[in-house]
Amino acid sequence: MNLVCSTCMGVNRVPDERIVDNPKCGKCKELLINGNVIEANQALFNKFVANSGLPVVVDFWATWCGPCQAMAPVFSQLAQEMKGKCIFLKVDTESEQELATRFAIRSIPSLKLFKGGKVVADTAGALPKAQLKGFIAPHI
Ligand SMILES: [Zn+2]
Repeated sequence: MNLVCSTCMGVNRVPDERIVDNPKCGKCKELLINGNVIEANQALFNKFVANSGLPVVVDFWATWCGPCQAMAPVFSQLAQEMKGKCIFLKVDTESEQELATRFAIRSIPSLKLFKGGKVVADTAGALPKAQLKGFIAPHI
């Protein structure tokens, strides 16, 4: 499957069975899957959504939003727990207003799950861990 490098945006082709072996980027040698939440600008977002062989869950948030802050640690924990199964992105709706407009984000936090370039699930409002996991799990 194709994996996008969050460091150099290179697209790497990795055999499915090698996902568990901590594959590195062919261009910049950084880990392709590190279990971290990736802070995405528009270019990075587009690259991941269009090319990622793994599903991509995106948290549309803003720094001033209390519920967003509250959900952030849970989002990070799940990024670790679901490492190699799903990619976790965060999009700051203040600095990336074009993306917020494109996806008609009206309330935050807003979550969207992308597969093969398309939204396959979405929800709004901060979710507790079990529900957030339940939102993602059917699609991985
Ligand atoms: Zn790279």
